[in-house]
Amino acid sequence: MLLVEDNDDHAELFVLSARSFSEANITRATNLTDALRIAKSQPVNLAILDLGLPETVGLDTLSLFLQNCPSLPIVVLTAISDLNLGEEALKLGAMDFLSKEEITPRTLLRSIRYAMERWAQKCKLEDSLADLQYFGSMAAHDLVSPLDAIQGFAQLIELELSKGKITTEAWECLDLLRSSAKRSINLVRDLQKLSSLGRKAIVKEKLDPNSLVEDVCTTLRETIKETKGTVEAMDMPPIRGDAGLVCHVLQNLIGNGLKYSRDGIPPVVKISSSQEDGLTVICVEDNGIGIDEDHSTRIFLPFERLASSKGTKGSGLGLSICKKIVEAHDGEIWIESSLDQGSRFFFHLGC
Ligand code: ADP
Repeated sequence: MLLVEDNDDHAELFVLSARSFSEANITRATNLTDALRIAKSQPVNLAILDLGLPETVGLDTLSLFLQNCPSLPIVVLTAISDLNLGEEALKLGAMDFLSKEEITPRTLLRSIRYAMERWAQKCKLEDSLADLQYFGSMAAHDLVSPLDAIQGFAQLIELELSKGKITTEAWECLDLLRSSAKRSINLVRDLQKLSSLGRKAIVKEKLDPNSLVEDVCTTLRETIKETKGTVEAMDMPPIRGDAGLVCHVLQNLIGNGLKYSRDGIPPVVKISSSQEDGLTVICVEDNGIGIDEDHSTRIFLPFERLASSKGTKGSGLGLSICKKIVEAHDGEIWIESSLDQGSRFFFHLGC
């Protein structure tokens, strides 16, 4: 904790109060220059800032501190019980304010806890907002290309129909139009899934991964047929998770295993499990195009599609949704792969 207070008596009162409930290290600065130097050079998790310092007074002190240390929560100390000044400080970005006359171990502890909680919520909100802005712009970008295609195909069909007959070209355009519409729908569905995850509380129940794989194979039967693929599952012990969400993870991983196959080599996807540190780790292995080791983290980011997957349809959201789902279960997901060697995706769902 960093205490920025020039008055020795006030500083002593503060330290005495703080010591009654915390052993945390308190570093004191008596002016803003020293405070900023300490905040930048030492690990500090909270600043208690007196607004009346030798070089600066009032909200200027806070503004300067915030400008220079925007990622530190601040509780402001006011000399008098000035509610207005306290409220203005909150509007500027302080997490709480405390008038010096009111400092007791109890009020101090309450203020510190409140400020830390408010800070944690603020950081969470900022992260969600950044996510949302990123998703918004990427989704808009990725939605525009299939919609552009739909518009183009519709114009072509119109042209063909104006000739007074339904030509082969018109039928072909209709097909392309349908697949572009499907791409848009899939993208919107993936985005819906991703945004609903943030709000959903995970309820874990006992699941049989063998029957989940069977369900997934039923859903993917057209893809299995089209790719001439095979899905093999070994007998796996029960796991604990949300049935719908875990099914979604398996479907994505198995679907990708079928989709990203090597030319002329029918895909074979194997699902197995192992025990590691008391956790059941599920592995989805394929014999496909594989992924360069350098990209093993990137592929779990939203909208990341590798050059090697060119020509294969996808929104680039599947693995990021898997990651969100697994992490919402307190689990982990990772990949072991190298180019042209197939891939092995692993995940567990925590305890
Ligand atoms: P999508 O398949 O919709 O593009 P994903 O998030 O599921 O999105 O995958 C991201 C990228 O990771 C894919 O575009 C592809 O480049 C790569 N990838 C995913 N799974 C595999 C796999 N089993 N084998 C090879 N590459 C894969």
